[in-house]
This record gives sequence, structure tokens and C-alpha cells, in this order.
Amino acid sequence: MGPREWVEKHVMGDGDLLCYGNLFDELEEAGAGVFWEELKRAAAPYVAGGRDRARAAQARVDDLIRTLLARDARFGYAPPFCHKGCANCCHQLVYCTLEEARAIHAHCLERAIAIDYGKLQRQLRHVDVDAAGDHTGTTTWDDQPDADRRCAFLGPDRACAIWPVRPLVCRAQLAEGTDAHCTPHNGEPDPEAAGITYVEVNYLISAVFTIHRDSVKKTMGRLLLDLR
Ligand code: SF4
Ligand code: SF4
Repeated sequence: MGPREWVEKHVMGDGDLLCYGNLFDELEEAGAGVFWEELKRAAAPYVAGGRDRARAAQARVDDLIRTLLARDARFGYAPPFCHKGCANCCHQLVYCTLEEARAIHAHCLERAIAIDYGKLQRQLRHVDVDAAGDHTGTTTWDDQPDADRRCAFLGPDRACAIWPVRPLVCRAQLAEGTDAHCTPHNGEPDPEAAGITYVEVNYLISAVFTIHRDSVKKTMGRLLLDLR
């Protein structure tokens, strides 16, 4: 079975790829052969993984980013602007898989971290969904008061209260130079944004998102509300 057929069988199933970041550009740049091989390589451990595959995928993203940032530093690139307390990016809609949402829920129960379900409900009023409850891509997120745009897990110190179990997307969010452009405007990226993206990470998250597209499209807030 060639890599494309493998991905179609084990990752895509009956649906399309749910691409994270600019992965589709890679199809043109790298060529179809490399694209499907790399996607298979990124997806295979997750497909074969057991109950702990969500945690393993998060650890893999952390490792990849650490390694790639170290490589970039050797080439003379400045480190990302990101640091604790820098949290403009934590004011937007968050996507995660059901497995990630379960881990967050369990983490909060174990550590008595209160989840503000009222805020999650208010936020979801700004997320357009279809008959299946999947986010259509349309949002009025930025029309909310600032306090409601903040992630329910962003503490008063602007630190993430669930850092060890934060979703893949939160791990992959990096920017260079400034945090001024890290907030999208109702889903539209700021044209001035200078995000740091790594194709290796995009392959992995795209594979995970495609496998779990039914839950990912529900958004983290909806999944947590359903786990109450
Ligand atoms: S992505 Fe932007 S807002 Fe988020 S931590 Fe990095 S620089 Fe700060
Ligand atoms: S889960 Fe944590 S890192 Fe992710 S958006 Fe919320 S506060 Fe930020």
C-alpha cells in the first residue's frame, strides 16, 4: 500500500484532510510523493498508539518545537517572542480533540481547578455551528467583551492554568518579534502577524485533527461542556 492509500485508509477514512496551518502549500512545494510519505510518517505512531496517544502526540510536538527552535538558533534566528504572561493568543477560539478535552477535564477534577462553564456557554454564542454542531468557520468571537474573549483557563496572572495538558494548538502557537498581531479578528489572521510555523508540526496536527475531525470541529468549549 502506497503512502497516499495508507493515509486515506488510516487517517482520512471517508472524509477530507483537516489541514492545520499552511500544510496544503506543502503539497505544491514538496510534491505529492513527499507530502503523502511525510503525512504517513507523522500519523503512524498516533494511529498505532494506545490510550496515551494524545499525551504522546503533545510530547512529540513539544520535542519537535524544542529541536527546531534550537536548530534555528544555530542558524542565527532570534528566539520566539513567546513567554509566560504573553497571552494575546489565549483570546481566541480553541480547538482540541475529545481525548484532549477528557485529559483537561480529568486534570481540572484532580487539581480542583474550576472550569467556568458559564463563560464557555457565553463564548459559544459567538461560534456558528451547523446541524451536526460542527463549527462552520464563521465566528463573532471578537465582538465579546474582553473578559469573555479570554480563554477560560487563562489565569489572572496571564498564565495557563492547565499548562501540562493544554491542547496541541496551544503548544504550536509561536510568534516572532512582537505579540501585537497574535489575535485574529473574528477568525481572520492579522495581516501583520509573524507566526513561526514548522511543517513537521503541521503534518502531525493535521493527521490528528483529521482522525478526530468530528470532535475537533465541536471546539474545546463545547467538548468540555458535554463532559460536565
Ligand atoms: S503566540 Fe503571540 S501572544 Fe502567544 S505567547 Fe507567542 S508572542 Fe505571545
Ligand atoms: S488552554 Fe491555556 S494555552 Fe491554551 S488558550 Fe487557554 S490559557 Fe492559553
